[in-house]
Amino acid sequence: MSTLPQKNALGFYEIRLESIGGLGANLAGKMLAETGALELGFNAANFSSYGSEKKGTPVKTFVRFCDPEVEIRDHSPIEEPHLVAVFHEALYKTVNVVSGLHPDGVVLVNTSRDFDEVRADLGLEYGTIAVVDAMGIAVEEQTKVNTSMLGAMFRICGFLDPEAMRKVIRRTFEKKYPHLVEPNIRTFDRGYNEVKFKAYEVPAGTVASPFKRAQSLLGYETQLPGGIILAQGNSILKDLSGSRSGMLPVLDLDSCISCAACDNVCPDNCFVWEEGEDKRGRPQQTLLGIDYHYCKGCLKCIDVCPTEALTSIREEVGFAEAHRVPQVF
Ligand code: SF4
Ligand code: SF4
Repeated sequence: MSTLPQKNALGFYEIRLESIGGLGANLAGKMLAETGALELGFNAANFSSYGSEKKGTPVKTFVRFCDPEVEIRDHSPIEEPHLVAVFHEALYKTVNVVSGLHPDGVVLVNTSRDFDEVRADLGLEYGTIAVVDAMGIAVEEQTKVNTSMLGAMFRICGFLDPEAMRKVIRRTFEKKYPHLVEPNIRTFDRGYNEVKFKAYEVPAGTVASPFKRAQSLLGYETQLPGGIILAQGNSILKDLSGSRSGMLPVLDLDSCISCAACDNVCPDNCFVWEEGEDKRGRPQQTLLGIDYHYCKGCLKCIDVCPTEALTSIREEVGFAEAHRVPQVF
């Protein structure tokens, strides 16, 4: 049996997956723990934490490994992980994904960008960054990002045998989805082979950045007198960029005939119009653009567009903000 490279005071090697509902982090955590416990002889525990909405909202999945003689009696969320895996870059906006990372820890990010850009966005001052284009691999193999992220995590962990994971992938998919076994094994292998690393110097005396627990914005100390709510919970404030799992529609206005077929199917009112005139001077609504703030990347609009004015592209960081046409309410 291989040995754990690092352990905390309780004897655990700890992994935290930072994700968004729908990307498969929960399943990835289960498969990771199952591989460690059933195939490699470690003790392992896994659980996830997510809200009631699930899809599109932040999800955390926790995995603990320890030697077989150590009992796992700690079932609390992991606050000081050895490895953090970030499944979606939109999380940086709302979650401090590297909170509590060990000084010699590793952050794995699903990205097509380069190390220094990712580091600047993470605000990481120490540790090793690993990058893998998990979404690009998933699009090419027609799978999900979770198996390519698992491949990259196996490479990082070192003590986990990739052949054991291939067995678990086969066992997980072969009964219900046998056609997904080989694509997922290919995805896993590509994640394993394509992940890249860069270590940043850890200044002497560096300690883990303290983990910050999310606090409720309104509590008994911060509530306004009379319980006034200034920012009501409504969909105008809702930023859906975190719900997109890598693809987004782009509009070519030159090919658009303002037929509104896209608007009829869009579940989130993303299409922005202005009143103009047609060639005969009659009033007509003309499409101006897409408000990406509300777009969840379902791509339903592309299927119905009769002129191919809408096409899908792989989302790059910053594209949506640069091309957003804001709705006016
Ligand atoms: S469906 Fe296509 S052509 Fe029609 S309004 Fe939308 S983008 Fe334009
Ligand atoms: S991808 Fe979905 S949410 Fe985004 S604009 Fe098209 S229909 Fe609306």
